[in-house]
Amino acid sequence: MQVLKFGGTSVNDAAAIGQVVSIVADQRTSDPRLVVVTSAMRGVTDLLIDAARAAAKGDRTRYRDARLILIGRHHDAAEALVHDLDELNRLQSVTDERVREFERLCMAVAILGELTDRGLAVISGLGERLLAPILAAALRDRGLPAAFVDAGELIVSDDNFASAAPLMDATRTATRGRLLPLLDQGDIPVVTGFVAATADGAPTVLGRGGSDYSAAILGAALDADEVQIWTDVDGVLTADPRIVSEARSLPELTYGEAAELAYFGAKVLHPKTMLPCIDRGIPISVRNTFNPTFPGTRVVAQATNGVAAQRGGGPAVKALTVIRGLTLVTVAGRGMMGVPGIAARTFTAVAGQDANVLMISQASSEQSICFVVPEGDATKVARELEATFASEIRQRAIDRIAVERNIVIVAAVGEGMKGTPGIAARLFSALGDKNVNVIAVAQGSSETNISLALAAADADAAVRYIHAAFNLGG
Ligand code: ASP
Ligand code: MG
Repeated sequence: MQVLKFGGTSVNDAAAIGQVVSIVADQRTSDPRLVVVTSAMRGVTDLLIDAARAAAKGDRTRYRDARLILIGRHHDAAEALVHDLDELNRLQSVTDERVREFERLCMAVAILGELTDRGLAVISGLGERLLAPILAAALRDRGLPAAFVDAGELIVSDDNFASAAPLMDATRTATRGRLLPLLDQGDIPVVTGFVAATADGAPTVLGRGGSDYSAAILGAALDADEVQIWTDVDGVLTADPRIVSEARSLPELTYGEAAELAYFGAKVLHPKTMLPCIDRGIPISVRNTFNPTFPGTRVVAQATNGVAAQRGGGPAVKALTVIRGLTLVTVAGRGMMGVPGIAARTFTAVAGQDANVLMISQASSEQSICFVVPEGDATKVARELEATFASEIRQRAIDRIAVERNIVIVAAVGEGMKGTPGIAARLFSALGDKNVNVIAVAQGSSETNISLALAAADADAAVRYIHAAFNLGG
């Protein structure tokens, strides 16, 4: 059994949806049990949310304009895809009814002058509820027995309405009860991504970009053989192709590597999204709807020997990623050596400012701790640290808190680095040979990631040098 999830660009218009239909038809020839999960058309969720937010501020034109766009885009797609006139009429009236519901909800929001998370969940989930019936009809139009299913009947979540978490046991029962009979009779369920419902049936959504999560949850509930994430890129790349022209798609990644890359800003699967699949060891493929014969990237629990062997024992570094817009903060001073509690006080102060720490490094001389935070948090973090260490600064045990802006982190990720000597040396000589200055370094004991803090101006060159040094372009 395969779960196929299609993202917003894959269902953006009739042409893209036509492509999706071909992919499903093609897979069906080898795999009779398919579940399709779909996002909203690209931009639709934003349109819905913006209109609802505007309505809460008393702006009624936004949702009226949005209404026309929604009807236009969905009617156009349906007209191009569905040839049976009765079916088309039914479909258009479903669309119209959903859009009327959207309008009524926004009207209520405007009257109340307030948008609750509960209201936001109902409104933001309408994009998937508009699209999935059209995709199901388009599949039927090509002779495939597709059936629209609202994920509100399958995924049972908590009541954190706008960013709900699934309750897996209840979800498993509901999903199997509803989908297995459909699958047994040969149907292809076409399920709304992103949306869920509480045990009492109140609509929720799984957070922005939540359709991948929906697919993983359903895959886990159904014990699927694979979850396929169909998007608009050739899987996960060795580096951003806008920086490195030789960047290429990776045939395989482990869950751990995918999580490291995602954490460092690569456009991969969100780690949370993968959890249901990780728990059951279900592989996740990342495929390109617009290049469907390309195998993409398979994300698995453990690297297979085949792939490792094909690369001469497995490359230590698999991919590079960059995260920009950062600041390096340093707490340094002669008086820090051997004094316990400096790190604890430092990070308590940082946490108190709600700042996310992306990287930490302390040399064993213990005379400085440095860490990297988003640019926007730097000033408040430094101010808080100055207050925290006011007396140490006065006594000159700690120097002033140093703040260095325009920092990026370049991270090299790969599980093959574990226990492989010489990786760091190759990395540093790749940069040293080209005169790129490394400001700080961190490697966790998991050894699957080496992170370098660099000046922003050096970022792209550094990525290109490292990419070449490890021959990631193949
Ligand atoms: N449509 C939702 C969003 O834009 C969910 C998704 O696309 O994954 O956030
Ligand atoms: Mg999306």
